[in-house]
Amino acid sequence: MKISDGVQMLELYVEAFDSRQELNPTLIWDDETAILIDTGTPGQLEQIRTAMNEVGVSMGNLKAIILTHQDIDHIGSLPEILNESSGGIEVYAHEVDKPYIEGELPLMKGNPDSMAWQLEGLSEEVRQKVLASVENPPTAKVDRTLVDGEELPYCGGIRVIFTPGHTPGHISLYLKKGKILVAGDAMFSVEGILQGPHQPSTPDMDTAFQSMKKYMDFDIEKVVCYHGGLSQNNVKNQLEDLVRKV
Ligand SMILES: [Zn+2]
Repeated sequence: MKISDGVQMLELYVEAFDSRQELNPTLIWDDETAILIDTGTPGQLEQIRTAMNEVGVSMGNLKAIILTHQDIDHIGSLPEILNESSGGIEVYAHEVDKPYIEGELPLMKGNPDSMAWQLEGLSEEVRQKVLASVENPPTAKVDRTLVDGEELPYCGGIRVIFTPGHTPGHISLYLKKGKILVAGDAMFSVEGILQGPHQPSTPDMDTAFQSMKKYMDFDIEKVVCYHGGLSQNNVKNQLEDLVRKV
């Protein structure tokens, strides 16, 4: 789905789960650079490639991949993408989630307890598949860590907003061109309505709500949630309402 000129929300589907789940990485590009924010679950390389080709961006154009956080549905196809490239893609993430992404520490949500809400209602076969993937998660080197407030000089400027809570190293990205907030999993959305942090998958709800206050410093017209997609109607009011409850 086109969000703005040079900003595309990819629509990936996880077919393995009983209910078809949509994941929404964001692709940003201009004449010089293409950047992908988050990479789907393991095995989604071809879906990502197809979605990128549809807007005329090839894997070879990718200069960087930004990970909003360590969860497997965000880092999943990273090694596959890097394998294909000739080494020209830099991987960015926040320092706190870096050791999990690099495999130094086990993923925080990589055990049956933390995944109970996701496993509920799945057939035993699918359940085992999901558990096997988190027990042996994909790993990749993080080339550069990002800090709160910094601005990456790509595609009109990308501001980093440190938004811990969903994981301790979670970041959101603000795309100056288009006034777009890429929220990752700091919030989820249902039919264009922002819902705040997703309780079952957010270990620290208090911190997650506090993090959302940082959005008030930005002039936001559109929000892309990784789960739930685009919200663009009165998002400023929606955000104010959510933050007011804190
Ligand atoms: Zn997620």
